[in-house]
Amino acid sequence: MLNPIDIISKKRDGRELKPEEIEYMIRGYVNDEIPDYQISAWLMTIYLNDLNQDELFNLTKSMVESGRQIDLNKIPGKKIDKHSTGGVGDKVSLVLLPVLAACGLKIAKMSGKGLGHTGGTIDKLNSIPGFQPELSIESFTNTVEKCGLAIISQSSDIVPADKKLYALRDVTGTVPNPSLIASSIMSKKISGGASFIIIDLKVGQGAFVKNQKEAEHLANLMINLGKKFKKTIKVVLSAMNQPLGKYIGNSLELIEAVEALKGRWDSDLMENVLTLGREVLKMVDIKKSDREANDLLMKQIKNGLALQKFKDMIICQKGDPGFIEKYSLLPKPQVIKEYTAKKTGLISNIDALHIGRAAMLLGAGRTIKDDIIDYSAGIIFRKKAGEYAGKGEAIAVLHAKDFEKIRLAEEVLTRAISFNNNIKDRKKITIKVI
Ligand code: URA
Repeated sequence: MLNPIDIISKKRDGRELKPEEIEYMIRGYVNDEIPDYQISAWLMTIYLNDLNQDELFNLTKSMVESGRQIDLNKIPGKKIDKHSTGGVGDKVSLVLLPVLAACGLKIAKMSGKGLGHTGGTIDKLNSIPGFQPELSIESFTNTVEKCGLAIISQSSDIVPADKKLYALRDVTGTVPNPSLIASSIMSKKISGGASFIIIDLKVGQGAFVKNQKEAEHLANLMINLGKKFKKTIKVVLSAMNQPLGKYIGNSLELIEAVEALKGRWDSDLMENVLTLGREVLKMVDIKKSDREANDLLMKQIKNGLALQKFKDMIICQKGDPGFIEKYSLLPKPQVIKEYTAKKTGLISNIDALHIGRAAMLLGAGRTIKDDIIDYSAGIIFRKKAGEYAGKGEAIAVLHAKDFEKIRLAEEVLTRAISFNNNIKDRKKITIKVI
C-alpha cells in the first residue's frame, strides 16, 4: 500500500520515485486526500534533491492527467501555442500571435493573469471593452477554428494539479526549482493541445530566471519533456534587464502592441517578436531560412493582415475593436505626471524589476491574486537606456488614479534609472535559440 510518509521519506533520502508513487501523490492532492503539509514536505524534498528525467516525465504526465486535455485535431492546419516566462512590458503575444495567424497558422493560447511585478496577457486584453477571456474549452476550439486565433484565461479544467501545487509552492519557498518549473509550464502546454510550442524564456534582473546557465538548463528540461510528449518545441532566451518596449501597464501595452501591428514599433519589442516568429515559421516548415521567415512576418504587418487578425480575434471574443482606431475608448487615468531627469547624462540602465514594482504601485499589477487592477495605470518611457537626458527633461510619463500613487512610484523610479556616461554598447534582446 502506498502512503505519503514513505514517498516523502524516499525522496528525502535521495532515492528515485516510481511512476505510481508520483501519480499517487498528485492524484491524492487534487482529490483532497493528501493534506497541504505532506505535499509541502514532498515539494521541499524535490526542491532539495531534484528529479531525474524519468521522474520529471512521470510528474508532468500525472499533472497533465489531473485534468482535461484539449483536442485540436479537428481543426485543420498547424496549431501553435506560445508561452513567456514573464517580463516587464512583455506584450509580445499581442503582436506575434496575430502575425502568425496572418501566416495561416492556428493559434490556441491559454494565459495566466499577472502576479507580482510582471503583467499577464489576459489583463492587457481585459482593458478592451467587452472582451471575453473566459471561454469554455468548446468555444475556445471553435474560436481557434473560425478566427485562426484565440487567447483565453487558463481554464480551471486544465491541469488542476498545477493550480494547487503552484499556490503551495508560492508559500513554501519551492517555486525556483527547475523540475518543478518545467513540469508546471509543460503540463499546461501539453494539455493545451497544440503540436508546436514556442517558449520565450526571459533572463535577467526583471525575470525569475536570473542567468543564462539556469535558463539553458530549464530550456533543455522543457525541450526533452516536449519530445517525450511528441511536441515540437523551441525555446528562445531573451534578455529581460530593461522593460520591453516603451509602454508598461495594461491598456498602455495594448496600445503599444496595436502601434506595432500598424508598423510603428520599438526596436527591442520587434526584435523579440521577429526572433520568436522566425523560429515558429522554421519549426512548422513554412520557411527554411531566417531571411525568408522575416520577410513573411514583415509582409503580414505591412499589408495590414496581422492587424486584421487581431481585430477578428477581439470580435470573436466579444470585444469592441473600436479602440484600435480610437485609443481614447480604453480606460483613462485620473492623473498624469511627467517624471523628469534629476541631472544631465547618459541613461545607462532602467532596471526592469524596479519598473515592474513602480507599475504595480501605480495600480497596474497585483500583489495578491484577488487585487483589483487599474487598467489605465502605467508608465510611458520617453527615453530608454543608451539615450541622453538633460536635467528637467521628461524620461517617462506616469498614469494613475491619484497623486499619492504617483509619488510612491517616483521614489522607485529614481532607484531604477541609472546614469553613466561610459556605458558600453547596448545588448541585444535575443540571447540564444535552443
Ligand atoms: N510559470 C509557471 O507556469 N510555472 C512555474 O512554476 C513558474 C513559472
